[in-house]
Amino acid sequence: MKILRIALPTPLRRLFDYLPAVDMDTASLQKGVRVRVPFASRTLTGIFIEVSDQSTIAMEKLKCAEAVLDDTPIIPDDVYELCEWAAGYYHYSLGEVLSSALPAALRKGKPLESKKKLPEAETKLQQPLTLNSGQQQALDEILNAQNQFKVFLLDGVTGSGKTEVYLHAIDAMLAAGKQTLVLVPEISLTPQTIARFRARFPVPIAALHSSLSDGERLTAWLAAKSGEARIVIGTRSAIFTPFQNLGLMIVDEEHDLSFKQQDRFRYHARDMAVMRANKNNIPIVLGSATPSLESLLNAERSRYHLLSLPERAGGAVMPEFKVIDVRSQKMAEGLSDSLISAMREQLKAGNQVMLFLNRRGFAPVFMCAQCGWIAGCKRCDARMVYHRAPKELRCHHCDARMKLPEKCLECDDTHVEAVGLGTQRVEEVLQQEFPDIPVIRVDRDTIKGKDALDELLTQIHQEHPSILLGTQMLAKGHHFPQVTLVGIIDADSGLFSADFRAAEQMGQLLMQVSGRAGRAEKSGKVMIQTRCPDHPHLQTLIHQGYASFARGLMNEREQFVLPPYSYFALLRAEAYSEKTAGGFLDQVKDLSAAFAGAVSIMGPVPAFMAKKKGLHCQHLLIKAGKRNSLQQFLHQLLLKLEQLPAKHSVKWVLDVDPVEGG
Ligand code: ADP
Ligand code: ZN
Ligand code: ZN
Repeated sequence: MKILRIALPTPLRRLFDYLPAVDMDTASLQKGVRVRVPFASRTLTGIFIEVSDQSTIAMEKLKCAEAVLDDTPIIPDDVYELCEWAAGYYHYSLGEVLSSALPAALRKGKPLESKKKLPEAETKLQQPLTLNSGQQQALDEILNAQNQFKVFLLDGVTGSGKTEVYLHAIDAMLAAGKQTLVLVPEISLTPQTIARFRARFPVPIAALHSSLSDGERLTAWLAAKSGEARIVIGTRSAIFTPFQNLGLMIVDEEHDLSFKQQDRFRYHARDMAVMRANKNNIPIVLGSATPSLESLLNAERSRYHLLSLPERAGGAVMPEFKVIDVRSQKMAEGLSDSLISAMREQLKAGNQVMLFLNRRGFAPVFMCAQCGWIAGCKRCDARMVYHRAPKELRCHHCDARMKLPEKCLECDDTHVEAVGLGTQRVEEVLQQEFPDIPVIRVDRDTIKGKDALDELLTQIHQEHPSILLGTQMLAKGHHFPQVTLVGIIDADSGLFSADFRAAEQMGQLLMQVSGRAGRAEKSGKVMIQTRCPDHPHLQTLIHQGYASFARGLMNEREQFVLPPYSYFALLRAEAYSEKTAGGFLDQVKDLSAAFAGAVSIMGPVPAFMAKKKGLHCQHLLIKAGKRNSLQQFLHQLLLKLEQLPAKHSVKWVLDVDPVEGG
């Protein structure tokens, strides 16, 4: 009796048994080929795992597989092993993990072929720069580790020439006939990044990012698998790319939160990259100007090898910081006199000024001056944001929209007003203050559409003097040589937050934003507007730099036994009533008491935003001193949880190593 065991893209964490179709040659089936099977009333594409001679399902209930879609495995062994590891570590269904590893076209059962081609390689090529001694030393160490697993943390200030080191290392890989995978954050995958790589190497380069069509994605995937693409640059999910001969991995901006997938299969692409390098026995470089505390601790414990580039390359100097106490200044809609006059000076000299405000829309609050009513979203615990174009109130969490009320919905008074600052409002003020200067706004509202960001970036590179105004989208990775002044309109939101990770993220963002100033020959200045100029985090960051700032945060985390000095998992339950969500987690907590051991379980507590899209969300926070004890606990917990009838009344998900909440 032959039974096919198949991994299917369903949340159920097990394999599914099928009978082979009459004409199927089960003896020649290889693990990793796709199989089409009936499932409930649908047809699914699954991955064949093994043949078994028995099933726990009664024979007459077993269905027949419909077709085998491939002759040879489409998921190579190393990627399969990575997926298997991830399914175990994140406690997620193997079928779902394997399915996320495939391009959409293959997931849908399309054949393993593509009519499209990779873009042609460039023939005008840019010459490599001569490395400075710091860069050369970093490169030498990386190249000395060829063909062995070694993790490098390349800790280099913005503009220190990290990318140049990557390019030289890739060059060596090309010479050795090996491929390189470069992971970059979601937003910095601009044509600029890819163009810099293309301009350097006369080889086929595949780019994998979210704006590709299914066909383009499949082309890139196939080119990597066949070995044709010598370099693959991609965002998070590119970690699953199959290679013919992978020699090196690079994770740029390793601290960036976009490497963590925040829904369904919640993996961390940086952590998986380290695991893949380990399995493939190759070196991996994690680069950042503001490394995560996790990676810094790994370097401190000698698990990662630290490479430092403390100075800017090519003669550029680090910008000078100036803190502006907004309590003592005359303000024009959020812009202080000092900032405005500093801007005037730079713009007059023909330079660019960049202003940063991490809040899109016109104003974050719309309220009644008479009774204090604030427009809120009906489906979320969130305020409606006032938008000017088109004029309406919008929820940034569920995208609910509402006509702008002409009077208060509570007391009917007509004194309703927009309070607080968003990028649209600052844009308006700037147009009044600097009527002759173009203002280029970059936020999620202005970069809708495939090419919008590219167009804005082109405009930024052409127009100066000009003012660039944006949210964190503008902060990362870009190289704007004409920017000489960076203004941070409101540094305070990051200083006071319930989330223990907020300070780290604030510091990283502030350094990244500041890193945009004075990257070329021109020196730069960073002005930070705040109501608490003496805040110790801010002071340390500005006067002693990111390393000391991070050291301070690490001491705090160690004292309170928070990650990276402990390990977290978050069990999240959502339901239409708070009682259902909380009740489910109460049950889970009760049944886990018997085997919790040294693992502590806190909650249930309402999530930071307790209601979102009409669903109430509650958390259990699970904490352990050792990664292994957390893993063992979670393993047992899920086996029990999956038996609970109440699991059907909620939407639940487990987040291992969460980066938000908690
Ligand atoms: P990072 O990736 O650390 O931000 P980049 O590699 O982008 O740094 O380098 C920043 C700037 O310095 C770029 O304009 C780059 O061309 C220049 N640069 C990098 N390395 C050198 C070098 N060895 N000599 C001269 N200029 C360099
Ligand atoms: Zn009112
Ligand atoms: Zn909402």
